[in-house]
Amino acid sequence: MKKVFLTVGPSQNYPTVAKHLKNGITNNILSISHRGDLFHQMFSENVGLLKKLLKIPSSYNVFFISSGTEGMELSINNCVDQKSFHLITGAFGDKFFNIAKGLGKKAESLKANFGEGIDSDKLEKLNLSNYELLCATENDTSGGIYFPMEKVYEIKNKNLLIAVDSVSAVPFGNLNYKYLDLVFFSVQKGFGLPSGLGIIVVSPKALEKAQKLLKLKKDIGTYHNFPTLLSYSKKAETPETPNVLAIYLLNKVLKDMLSYGISKIRKETVRKAKIIYEFLDNNSYFEPLVGDTNVRSQTTIVAKTKGSSKDVISFLNKIGIFVGRGYGENKDKHIRIGNFPSHTIEDVKRLIKALEEFI
Ligand SMILES: *Cc1c(COP(=O)(O)O)cnc(C)c1O
Repeated sequence: MKKVFLTVGPSQNYPTVAKHLKNGITNNILSISHRGDLFHQMFSENVGLLKKLLKIPSSYNVFFISSGTEGMELSINNCVDQKSFHLITGAFGDKFFNIAKGLGKKAESLKANFGEGIDSDKLEKLNLSNYELLCATENDTSGGIYFPMEKVYEIKNKNLLIAVDSVSAVPFGNLNYKYLDLVFFSVQKGFGLPSGLGIIVVSPKALEKAQKLLKLKKDIGTYHNFPTLLSYSKKAETPETPNVLAIYLLNKVLKDMLSYGISKIRKETVRKAKIIYEFLDNNSYFEPLVGDTNVRSQTTIVAKTKGSSKDVISFLNKIGIFVGRGYGENKDKHIRIGNFPSHTIEDVKRLIKALEEFI
């Protein structure tokens, strides 16, 4: 029985990962030096491939870090002296906010009710002129909330930097990077790779801010502050010994995705999400958590279950299908379905058929 992981992260591996892993081991990728030519080549290639796939401006820097969560800490540390503002649409927005407070910043927020988007009127009335950094979550995985990014682009003003957590949206989300200063993600969701690698994209203005804070002798962190990451990335290296295997696998999967075509990946994601939501909207056992179709996530779909979600999950597990349970206190009330590039239309149809049988 073929197992399929329609989980929200870690998730189903991209279909070529097993082959690349085997080849990588054969070619001694697990033993190469992170200061050697082969590594330099992969590092530089990855930066170029990410810029191409995600349309990242050439002047932006791409740094390799350890996780999405680290992206939150680095954004705050490097770009906030005193005040950050947070648009919170779920538990990951809360996490970003709490990290800012934990680092001693004056963090303020506008928070949506769980399962809803941010109120547009409240958003338009915000005065953010006294803040240094605005933090938003493109797709909050806890409740399956998408944040329409145009609303964030409109907020852009001269002094405010903008950070976006893109962890469970990438590479589906088609961000317009020119409005953004910090975008971070990890690879175990949309890229279908093993966990243990994060990426942060840093605009020239965000880099300048970090350099300015450093000059003022502010604490911006140590080996992973932006100036240090920059000085190593100029040599196509990281300050520490990084996850070389993940960087290698990312290199291969980026090439695979580029040759498959990002617009095709995006179209298929929408098509699969439509199938899932149509099913959820039209039966008596499941119901999408998010009612407002404008903010329904396409990549991490959350459904309320009439009975305990444990029953559904164990039914599915017996036939080799894995979905996520609800986040935090909703663990027994919701299921969460990952819809990433590694998931095929056939996988989704198999899931729907199984859910019908369950009912
Ligand atoms: C998974 C997730 C994170 C955390 O990423 P890690 O790589 O586990 O640190 C952050 N934000 C969102 C929206 C996520 O889905």
